[in-house]
Amino acid sequence: MDLQNLYRQVIIDHYKNPRNKGLKGYKQVHLRNPSCGDDITIEANIENNVLKEIHHEGSGCSICCSSASIMSELLKGKDIATAKKIIDSYYHLIKGEPVEDEDILEEALVYQGVSQFPARTKCALISWKALEQLIGEDESE
Ligand code: ZN
Repeated sequence: MDLQNLYRQVIIDHYKNPRNKGLKGYKQVHLRNPSCGDDITIEANIENNVLKEIHHEGSGCSICCSSASIMSELLKGKDIATAKKIIDSYYHLIKGEPVEDEDILEEALVYQGVSQFPARTKCALISWKALEQLIGEDESE
């Protein structure tokens, strides 16, 4: 199986069987991507600078929904500093820029091909932007 095929299968798996889906009432950020129809809410339970839980809810394309699932799995349990580092690396990946420490992206590496499709980059970024916003609001409190 080639790598692109493997990446596609990981995306389809998270799209069909989303992890951490369903909101529980923690602090939320709702974002929309009108160009594609993605509509997603991310919530996080942040305690002592750790992302204890991350949930998502919404509808959208396979890139958007699968990336919310992968992001929630990858960043759950991480402290804020580590999460920020991973988010930053992910942004580089999606923009097609060199990523220093690819390993920390784990499953999120499946989106490395997205940079070749500028119309889809927003789909891959929306849930990550929502979480980044949540972290920022938590820090300003
Ligand atoms: Zn989309």
